Amino acid sequence: MTELLAGRSALVVGVANKRSISWAIADALRQHGARVALTYQGERVERDVRKLAETLGDDTPVLPLDVTDGDQIAAATSEAAETLGGLDILVHGVAFAPAEDLAGRFADTSRDGWSTALDISAYSLVELARHAEPLMNEGGNGSIMTLSYLGGVRATPGYNVMGPAKAALESSVRYLAWDLGEAAIRVNAISAGPVRTLAARGISGFSTMADSIAERAPLRRGIEATDVAGAAVFLASDLSRGVTGTTLYVDAGYHAMGL
Ligand code: NAD
Repeated sequence: MTELLAGRSALVVGVANKRSISWAIADALRQHGARVALTYQGERVERDVRKLAETLGDDTPVLPLDVTDGDQIAAATSEAAETLGGLDILVHGVAFAPAEDLAGRFADTSRDGWSTALDISAYSLVELARHAEPLMNEGGNGSIMTLSYLGGVRATPGYNVMGPAKAALESSVRYLAWDLGEAAIRVNAISAGPVRTLAARGISGFSTMADSIAERAPLRRGIEATDVAGAAVFLASDLSRGVTGTTLYVDAGYHAMGL
């Protein structure tokens, strides 16, 4: 394995269990030589995240972080940078919408459901990036990435309020790319095809949608979290030094199809 990321430090936000896309990314970043810190949202997942963290190395920092709390965002980013000796890579793999807004008609989305989904799934990237910016190692080469879905640019029945949340997220990537580009920090999104995770289970009709996408994608298959992790290593590394403000599709080509 080449050490593409030797000497780099990464904070990965969004690991809940071994199926989390962010876990596949954390594992791949580590395999390519990066030091990694993980966060967990609440005691419910703390034990699982700590167990996973141990497999990355005994000294892997594991920090509490609920992204609705600005103080926790400030604490997690600065603690990660302090423990790892700097920060070069930030992975944002966080999304949430109330269950009642992930079924039925999008038109019935409540004001609260809208605010919650956009706050947790999109605004959290803006606040995390703002705190990460001054911590990213001098000399640039910082890389921030988030996880999106095609439902942000095409109507996907059942995805509902997460669609506008992903549209806001991808737009925020472009604005952050401009602001942070001055400090040579790159900001990108990976738009992943369907992966069977905890978050995916909350979307009504997910399995049927995933099966039909796998049939119609140019590669005639679905994707695995490890496919996303490969793209994440690329975006974290200097191989992508000229890439910022973009959404990279890792969906076996499905987005390119007209039917
Ligand atoms: P997951 O359930 O494993 O990860 C979602 C994470 O968001 C969890 O770790 C959860 O703890 C975290 N989270 C939710 N609310 C939070 C809060 N208030 N504070 C901190 N963390 C919070 O599921 P996943 O599928 O790996 O999702 C990761 C990202 O990938 C999400 O942005 C999701 O929209 C995106 N994505 C998933 C798929 C898919 O099919 N699974 C496809 C494209 C994009």
